[in-house]
Amino acid sequence: MLSPRRRWQVGKLPLMSALERLKERTREISHLGSAAAVLGWDQQCYMPPGAAAARADHLATMSKLIHEKFTSDEMGKLIEEAARETEGMPFESDDASLVRVIKKDFERETKVPTELVAEETKTTALAHEEWVAARKANNYKHFQPWLEKIVDIERRIAEARGYKDQIYDALMDPFEPGMKTSEVEAIFDAIRPELVQIVKDIKDSGVEVDSSILHRKYAIDKQREITNDVASRIGFDFKTGRQDEAAHPFCTSFATSDVRITTRFDENFLSGSVFATMHEAGHAMYEQGFPEHFEGTPLRGGASLGFHESQSRMWENQVGRSRPFIEYYFPVLQEKFPESLGDVSVDQFYRAANKVEPSLIRVEADEVTYGLHIMLRFELEKEMIAGRVDFNTLPELWNSKMEEYLGITPDSDANGVLQDVHWSSGIIGYFPTYQLGNLISAQLWEMIRGEITDLDDQIRRGEFSNLLAWLRKHVHAHGCKFEPADLIQRITGKPLDSKPYLTYLRSKFGTIYGIK
Ligand code: ZN
Repeated sequence: MLSPRRRWQVGKLPLMSALERLKERTREISHLGSAAAVLGWDQQCYMPPGAAAARADHLATMSKLIHEKFTSDEMGKLIEEAARETEGMPFESDDASLVRVIKKDFERETKVPTELVAEETKTTALAHEEWVAARKANNYKHFQPWLEKIVDIERRIAEARGYKDQIYDALMDPFEPGMKTSEVEAIFDAIRPELVQIVKDIKDSGVEVDSSILHRKYAIDKQREITNDVASRIGFDFKTGRQDEAAHPFCTSFATSDVRITTRFDENFLSGSVFATMHEAGHAMYEQGFPEHFEGTPLRGGASLGFHESQSRMWENQVGRSRPFIEYYFPVLQEKFPESLGDVSVDQFYRAANKVEPSLIRVEADEVTYGLHIMLRFELEKEMIAGRVDFNTLPELWNSKMEEYLGITPDSDANGVLQDVHWSSGIIGYFPTYQLGNLISAQLWEMIRGEITDLDDQIRRGEFSNLLAWLRKHVHAHGCKFEPADLIQRITGKPLDSKPYLTYLRSKFGTIYGIK
């Protein structure tokens, strides 16, 4: 997961152009945002549990300050003046892009009253604890009133921001700028039956993949060494980043020169740390790859969460779970864990790492079933925000969709409707970006393979620099100058397309499971 970051703020410097003053202020807002991000990172990694209430206060003050500074009248005037100064500049220029990006965020954020932002912060801080308790006790009813409250707040925020087509558009926009709900619906409707069919074909193939080797004993101190090793081999720069442990893997950054990733360890599960680290390192390398002169400006950021996820999923799946990578890296793992992997072949490990099996928990899902988990959440969120869901029946709705898409029914609400943290944090509109990331990664991957024709051989030799350089040049160098639909078109010459994703899945899993 990527830590959501808000951009931006104010002072008085005469004799400078409005654009220069705007940059000065956005730098200050960006610094406040970075300080808040350090507090958030520390909260997840090191903070003693007793400090939770104090830290919530600190973070609430920071988010209030940032919101006030960013949405001030002075800021509005400065943006208008800077917009006039940059009129006529090329769309691609840094300055025109900077003004365009700030203007859009400013217009969206100023529509939301500060009291509503405060209400959201306070309610979600409390709701998070209630969700933890409800999940632990497997008690949906305990969380239900909080969920209803949060959905009501998010609906009011969406109404304040405004929308043309569907209300969900207003909530998705900060995460996936410019993307419309109807576009996501069209894409998901097209791929859902295909995914359901692949899952069915795999089941009917009769091929059993044994993944028990991944659940043997893997000493945690050795896993720690391996995750640092793998991150550094693929290109995560430890001079400008570090890895720590947290309950949930995530990536956050305070500057291009200071990017943090986290991982977690389970002595009886190797994939949980190795592939999750490659995932977070993929996010981190994007953050480490922004041009230096974007520092302190709103252009330092991913084009969207979907684009961010395309980078993490590419390093985790297209690279990490590929046959060439496992041929390259398995001997390193074998040497590190001779007792657990000494009798295992590359082929066995490759198949184990790619086992497809419908399961209840999204974060543990394989490449094929993962998308179905996302679609389920997208559909429920949309219905909740549109006011078309009876919250009393939400768990049944969840369970019936699990049955329909994955052929399994949750054994409890803790493993069903209560499993994800997002709703308790007021994060609605985020889920679809996970699946858009899978699509973008496949579309980029198809292009990369056409340009770096011996990519498999390079990966087999442990050479990742050409791949990373390609991503730096075509994706990272733009920061968030362009909206995701525009960026994918600029890079690949085509709009977002689900075909490369489906082709990739069919080809990879077709070989593993002997299906077409
Ligand atoms: Zn991610």
